[in-house]
Amino acid sequence: MSAGAPVSVVERAVPTPGPGDALVMIEACGVCGSDVFLQDGGFGNDKLPRVPGHEAAGIVIAVGSDSDATWLGTQVALYYIDAPTDSRWVAAGHGNVGPGIERMGVDVDGAFAEYIVRPVRTLIAVDPPMDPVDVAVSTDALATPFHALTTVAQLREGETLAVIGLGGIGSNAVQIGKYLGATVIAIGRSEGKLAQAVDLGADVTVTSSSGATSIVEAAGGQIDVVLQAVGDNASMDRLAIDIAGYRARVVFVAASQDSFALRATELIWRELSLLGSRGFTGDDIRAVLDLVRAGTLRTDHLTRSQRPLTEAAEALADLRAGRTMRTVLTMKSTQGQEEAKNAMEK
Ligand SMILES: [Zn+2]
Repeated sequence: MSAGAPVSVVERAVPTPGPGDALVMIEACGVCGSDVFLQDGGFGNDKLPRVPGHEAAGIVIAVGSDSDATWLGTQVALYYIDAPTDSRWVAAGHGNVGPGIERMGVDVDGAFAEYIVRPVRTLIAVDPPMDPVDVAVSTDALATPFHALTTVAQLREGETLAVIGLGGIGSNAVQIGKYLGATVIAIGRSEGKLAQAVDLGADVTVTSSSGATSIVEAAGGQIDVVLQAVGDNASMDRLAIDIAGYRARVVFVAASQDSFALRATELIWRELSLLGSRGFTGDDIRAVLDLVRAGTLRTDHLTRSQRPLTEAAEALADLRAGRTMRTVLTMKSTQGQEEAKNAMEK
């Protein structure tokens, strides 16, 4: 299979967990821009063919030898990264980086599947259980901006945050920025996404074409943190620098290979910090799940579009065409359970 080839559904035997592993029955898995990036060969053509899927929730139904049997029956969020057990980065709480990390749905097969075997150390217990679609979107759509704004940007209460791009990452950066106590400026293109940003708590919305000067004016003159969440768009990378205020932190979170020009004096005179944010850690997922459970963070805008696993190709096409921001795939095995539950309730 080559880059750009469509996804297809195939029958495979249910895998067997080895030592230290668990067999997880997938309940739901999010479809996001990274899956389109994978399909287009963005992670490298050597990664293809691959089962996509890195934002998943499921239930542990078997464990391998050496695995703790108390996991059986537990609902879990799947952390997509597995790092070497001796990683100094894991030990320091930064398991999202470091050499030798293996990404589910990129380096190994992912969770667009009914069953998956994963190392127990990558599983996050969800207890008591939650709606699996909420768990699935917490493992990326919410955890990525949470990581960027907390660990990386260290956004503080009372600061002004500007979010460029209001898709899966940016729209949630708006609600997380409000939760962290910031004044939030939402910068986007489409009326629909700007309106959604208001709904998610944005204090001010500005269209990205209005230019740096009017954006800074709208923000009251000083922007402390800029989150650049538009992929493959050097003019937005440049805009992020242009609107950053004194001592601002500019965080790049969307994948882009484009380069843009920058003078050292721009960094020096304003004491800017340029930062990159890569995904999230298991601890970010735990924090976000607590906030979703408490009703502090919303998921309704992320879980509106749901499709069965067999419609993964359509879900990717929807995303590509901009018809959806995200789709959550739900699995046949769990739909069967739901039907059985509904029948029992009737
Ligand atoms: Zn994702």
